[in-house]
Amino acid sequence: MAKILVIDSGHGGPDSGAVSPYGEEKFFNWDLAGRVLAEAKTAGLAAYLIPHTPETTEGPGRLAARVAFGRAKKADVFLCIHWNATSPNTVRGTECWYEEGDEKSVPLAQAVGNAVAHQLATIRRPDHPDNEDRLGRLGVLHGHLPKTVHFLLETGFITNEKDVDAYKQAPEHLAKVIVGVIAG
Ligand SMILES: [Zn+2]
Repeated sequence: MAKILVIDSGHGGPDSGAVSPYGEEKFFNWDLAGRVLAEAKTAGLAAYLIPHTPETTEGPGRLAARVAFGRAKKADVFLCIHWNATSPNTVRGTECWYEEGDEKSVPLAQAVGNAVAHQLATIRRPDHPDNEDRLGRLGVLHGHLPKTVHFLLETGFITNEKDVDAYKQAPEHLAKVIVGVIAG
């Protein structure tokens, strides 16, 4: 049976995510997510991109709605795509977040993070468990089916010119790299 991949494009609708001189995070996320969807279908995965609707982009239940979409599709892998932003604009790199205690998801999160950082020729930042000491607010990482490998990719920094340029030079190739790791 084909591996089931559900792609969650971070933010959307009235929620722009981070904002930088290079644009709004939600558009970076959606651009990459759509490319990952196309590549995943080409690779023979059963792939779905969570639609951005009022249910998934507005109100306190928007992240739970995304998790529910993944459960309904019985996702083997739930990939949440984001981009980082910070000051100063020299900060760059790739990092992943996973649900605290969800050890089964760590190897794929690390492998995808490694591949993305390599493709963007950027820094490989440490991965983090989402817990109360850290953010504790990544609702999209909680409530998945036991079998679902799930993690959040912070692809690069939209505040960093090098990360943005590296992505824009070959966005479809980055998508292909991500799918290659997930497809195994
Ligand atoms: Zn984000």
